[in-house]
Amino acid sequence: MRASYQGRRRRETGAPFRPLFRPIGRFANDLSFAEPIPMSRRRSTSALATAVVAALAVAPKPAAADPTIIRDAEIEQLLRDYTAPIFRAAGISSRGAQVILVGDRSFNAFVADGQKIFVNVGALLETKTPNEMIGVLAHECGHIAGGHLVRMRQELANAQILSIAGMLASAGAVAAQAVTSRGGARPGGVGMDQAGMAGVLTGPQELVRRSLLSYQRAQESAADSAGVKFLTATHQSAKGMLKVLQHFANDSLFISSSIDPYLITHPLPTERISNLEQIAKASPYFDVKDSPELQMRHDLMRAKLLGFVGDPAEVLRRYPMSDSSLPARYARAISDYRFGKLDQALAEIDGLIASKPGDPYFYELKGQALLEGGRAEASLPLLRKASAMAPKGAPIRVLLGHALVSAGGKANDAEAVRVLARTTQDDPDSAEGFQYLAMAYNREGDIPRSQLASAQAFFISGKYVEARTQAKRAQDQFKQGSPGWLKADDILNYRPPEPD
Ligand SMILES: [Zn+2]
Repeated sequence: MRASYQGRRRRETGAPFRPLFRPIGRFANDLSFAEPIPMSRRRSTSALATAVVAALAVAPKPAAADPTIIRDAEIEQLLRDYTAPIFRAAGISSRGAQVILVGDRSFNAFVADGQKIFVNVGALLETKTPNEMIGVLAHECGHIAGGHLVRMRQELANAQILSIAGMLASAGAVAAQAVTSRGGARPGGVGMDQAGMAGVLTGPQELVRRSLLSYQRAQESAADSAGVKFLTATHQSAKGMLKVLQHFANDSLFISSSIDPYLITHPLPTERISNLEQIAKASPYFDVKDSPELQMRHDLMRAKLLGFVGDPAEVLRRYPMSDSSLPARYARAISDYRFGKLDQALAEIDGLIASKPGDPYFYELKGQALLEGGRAEASLPLLRKASAMAPKGAPIRVLLGHALVSAGGKANDAEAVRVLARTTQDDPDSAEGFQYLAMAYNREGDIPRSQLASAQAFFISGKYVEARTQAKRAQDQFKQGSPGWLKADDILNYRPPEPD
């Protein structure tokens, strides 16, 4: 993982990283939820449904800070390999659909922002086999294929009507009983529940909540069935999917105060598990196992993640010195370089490269360790090699661009412009890519392009005011109607969503 573990990179360089969602609002009386910040203007479809789901199931919970997005070429490639057959079976275009890694150690996976599957680091750390993770992804593909996000919005519109009807119906009851609403924010929201049980008061929000929750449960079962269908069509077992859900169903018995986010996005009534078990076991592929090669990639991925997000003690508990496997050495090397033992880490990475010279990500790690250890010039050959070996690894090329800018000099600056201009074209969500591109253009004295790249970096990070300032400066220098002028114009014309 590049320092593109963005939480780290942010501290290191002050680089912006893009916010995904602002904290989710509580289930307010008027059903207004915090609108998510779109990741780009082309993708203003939102995580509204996720916000609804999360808001539905829990009482107000202190929302975490904006989740960080983690970019890592190795993990992104593995997730592409996990999802490609499923996408094909589900008829989902892999152009629009994508898996995005969220830097949160709790277990969660959900679909939002159109066809994007968000997977928490916690889910990757906790799934022991590729098949378990693939099962989680297949279920999410079931949501995409079923158009559940779109339908959730329609349900929400219905729910709003229901809510208004509920408020009207309850107005009399409130006058009589002088009870304030659940949320306390405004009076008039409490009525008798439909069963008419004496003494049981249910606000319209509660009616709405139940309506949406029952709808959500139907969607979950539909996504399970679709997921199993995709797995069967691709000759894979649904055993892993079943195992993950069983794990959550069992654990939920012991949960009292804290609620796991996966349970919020994925309610688990017992019949759901038994239905899933039935259809999963009916598949002729139920006992199919992951290949040892794929299991190794999965193990390396988990080791890398723990190396990057865990503290040294946790890494050593999970991967003690007695463990000489490739994943264990990988995790320890990462942990060592992160916690200041650079020389030791470099020796360990050399050992990894000697064990598996065809793995681009070991060269990438060595390059990253050198770059962050202040040896940018020495990191260049390693990062060039890694990017040549992993042609789809945009995060590696961003790291190479960073290293070139850090090393400096005319030739390096020119190479940085070449590498980063192409990479940001292929991967237009990389705020970091644009940020280093801006620096490289600046070195070359190309001020308008530098300002435009800055504007794009700010824009992706959700910093619209700064983005507009830079875009305006850039536009003033471009010829009207030229490609640069138009890109700046797009940013200037964008209207961010109103904060609540
Ligand atoms: Zn689901």
